[in-house]
Amino acid sequence: MASLETSIIHQTLEIENSGAVVPALIQSTTFKRDGAGAFVEGRDIYTRASNPNRRLLEKKLSMLENGIDAACFASGQAATMSIIHSLGQNSHVILPDDIYYGTRVILENLYKNWNISFSIVDMSDIKNIMQAIQKNTKLVWVETPSNPSLKIADLIEIAKLCKENNILSAADNTWSSPYFTKPLDLGIDLVMHSTTKYLGGHSDILGGVVIWNEKINQEISQCIRDYQTIGGGVPSPSDCWLMNRSLSTFFLRMEKHSTNAIKLANFLNNHPKVEKVYYPGLKTHANHDIAKKQMTNGFGVMMSILTKGNENDCLKIASKLKIFQHATSLGGVESLVDHRKTAEGLHSCSPENLLRISVGIENIEDLLEDFSQALS
Ligand SMILES: *Cc1c(COP(=O)(O)O)cnc(C)c1O
Repeated sequence: MASLETSIIHQTLEIENSGAVVPALIQSTTFKRDGAGAFVEGRDIYTRASNPNRRLLEKKLSMLENGIDAACFASGQAATMSIIHSLGQNSHVILPDDIYYGTRVILENLYKNWNISFSIVDMSDIKNIMQAIQKNTKLVWVETPSNPSLKIADLIEIAKLCKENNILSAADNTWSSPYFTKPLDLGIDLVMHSTTKYLGGHSDILGGVVIWNEKINQEISQCIRDYQTIGGGVPSPSDCWLMNRSLSTFFLRMEKHSTNAIKLANFLNNHPKVEKVYYPGLKTHANHDIAKKQMTNGFGVMMSILTKGNENDCLKIASKLKIFQHATSLGGVESLVDHRKTAEGLHSCSPENLLRISVGIENIEDLLEDFSQALS
């Protein structure tokens, strides 16, 4: 059997007699039944329920995470909602302390009438999760590496703890991407992605996905599917088409992202104007050993640095960078920095001198030179 890198490129839509090498874009919202009046497999009735471009994307994303099926959504947030929605009223959720802010807002704002409560713990130590379990705990939500401190949580230990306590485990794998971590292989029940980031890879498509393998509780996967097809927060066929195209270069992009990230992390780690570098690939990183155990092909692309001086000094460095653009988000081919404290606003816990870095696929010498001049 061909490798995953090859197979991802060669997945296509079989449309009779078209001869097309790349998948066609199927915009039709409705689909003809066959002669006997039956719905044709893979098309269903209507594009909200199932669209060929979306099914192709779901197949490829499942392959990337070693899953058996997936549900694609119009955004990462909609994908997260599908999981929270499956929990039911009066549930308790355990969240990491260093979490994508939007996930917490979903629980705080959108589910407050459901009486869903949550505890926030540092997941780099399993004992903290153990102690937070309550009678009605239904879900442990993990993000590794975390945002923006790059903490690493041990997915094998968390999956085991959840199984023992009959709790659903879900990993937001957006930052790591399946190139570096495959949570389902480590025993986690559900993988969620904002495909807006590394999977899309070009900062031009918004999307999300939830992926599961054969071990999933069918009631949960059906709930997620229903949330998608009945709730209707689905991506457009053209966004799915573009995302499918992005996946053809996924391995190539990630390889370059990864080697660039390691070189930049080492450079910044040795720079006198940088106080600290948070990157799981550095031996000095607090959770380096867990990262080494569960990450493959490298240590991810994201990092954060603490610059010497105060908030103004830090913002000045961000403005002096010429190739790295000062903008929120991550995972694109272009390098970005983000001053998290001013991006997150009043509630932010980020230090005033922290810059988050998303390393692109530009020439590494140009990237090092850019930081060199901005820090001087
Ligand atoms: C961006 C992001 C999300 C939200 O995804 P959207 O596609 O913006 O809705 C969730 N989790 C993480 C870690 C993210 O980076």
